[in-house]
Amino acid sequence: MAKTFHLDIISTDRIFYEGECEHLVITAIDGLLGILPGHEALVTALPPGELKYMVGGKWRYAAISEGFIQVMPEFAVILADSCELPEEIDIKRAEEARQRAEEKLRQKQSIVEYYHTQAALNRAMNRLKISKKHFE
Ligand code: ATP
Repeated sequence: MAKTFHLDIISTDRIFYEGECEHLVITAIDGLLGILPGHEALVTALPPGELKYMVGGKWRYAAISEGFIQVMPEFAVILADSCELPEEIDIKRAEEARQRAEEKLRQKQSIVEYYHTQAALNRAMNRLKISKKHFE
């Protein structure tokens, strides 16, 4: 069995990672997913969360917003709206986004607006949580 599999992490504005990976752990909509080489094929949706992937024996971490993952025995592809390293997260911006979303949620909104605002709040909370976890 191969020791690595190919991993692509692609966000709307960049190729975040493209290369070999030994282990990937990501939160999918139905729970935590651990991927090793030779994993069975699957496609699932990803909520905002943290992902970690091991390269050369070291874990690397990232915050992702909503997306999808496709897993095959030899590779995995993650497509996400956005993806940031913990050190790339602008805490002030995320805090402002959180406050904006919370303020909007206190106001009357259409159901579509409500879902957009809730999603923005989830993205902001995720960024704050991951940045706090790695830098406090
Ligand atoms: P905002 O309202 O602050 O723009 P957002 O959640 O709507 O936040 P996204 O649409 O998820 O932003 O992302 C747009 C781009 O901005 C992406 O490249 C994303 O990586 C980046 N980005 C958004 N918020 C932050 C942040 N707090 N720190 C660093 N990069 C961010």
